[in-house]
Amino acid sequence: MLVYLNGEFVPREEAKISVFDHGLLYGDGVFEGIRSYSGRVFKLDEHLKRLYDSAKAIMLRIPLEMEEMREVVLETLRRNNLSDAYIRLVVTRGEGDLGLDPDKCPKPTVFCIADKIVLYPEKYYREGLRIVTVPTRRNYVEAINPRIKSLNYLNNILAKIEGKLANAPEAIMLNSEGYVVECTGDNVFIVKRGVLKTPPVYIGALEGVTRNCVMDLAREMGIEVREELFTRYELYTSDECFLTGTAAEVIPVVEVDKRPIGDGKPGPVTLKLIDAFRRYAQTHGTPIYDT
Ligand code: PMP
Repeated sequence: MLVYLNGEFVPREEAKISVFDHGLLYGDGVFEGIRSYSGRVFKLDEHLKRLYDSAKAIMLRIPLEMEEMREVVLETLRRNNLSDAYIRLVVTRGEGDLGLDPDKCPKPTVFCIADKIVLYPEKYYREGLRIVTVPTRRNYVEAINPRIKSLNYLNNILAKIEGKLANAPEAIMLNSEGYVVECTGDNVFIVKRGVLKTPPVYIGALEGVTRNCVMDLAREMGIEVREELFTRYELYTSDECFLTGTAAEVIPVVEVDKRPIGDGKPGPVTLKLIDAFRRYAQTHGTPIYDT
């Protein structure tokens, strides 16, 4: 495996960064998880825009133009001869001293890893997930806005641990006011009387690339889509529920906090969207090889 690191492609064993890197010391950095399907990178420009927006929000100047970064992603896939892959693109504040001051980190660290995609078991897509809501609240928007996809994922990890303690493969997080926000690594949707609803990002959710794509596909199918606040009550009494994310794609949820969702099976809107999303992902995206 060859990893892109600060302008070079190096073998995995040599892809090392300093213990003084503030990405490691403080989670001071930003990242993207991107996917390629059958030789095309899915929504590459959307991921790059989000990366640069995240960096801007934390006043981190990425030392590459967006066009160069796009080439880094494509070249990492080419060097590793990958067509279906998961790509992790990371920019950290770089090496500094032991203090917090980002101005003491003159050179951001940039790396890109492309690996084979590890898929969720197909069973989850057929039968749906049984998940829970957890006590840890999603980061307060005015403290660390979850729209910033930063390396600081402890909020999500705490929720993940709580989900695992309840034997759940994902965990739904609420915000400090008790509204449903998102999962530890996925966005959440419900369907009620044919209307598709997902929380607006301003309450503290990441603006998921998959989320946006699914909303577009649903609208194209004539489904009414609303970004709307809802509580656990609306979640429990929804007709259908599903999650979206780069790794998960669209995945049904059939139980939340031991309450069956709808009739306890993946619902018709969910199944249609899974299908539409898979077809879309296979046929759209930036070609890796014939450029
Ligand atoms: N929310 C969180 C907290 C995430 O980490 C992710 C995964 N990046 C998502 C939602 C889903 O976003 P996307 O569809 O862009 O992968």
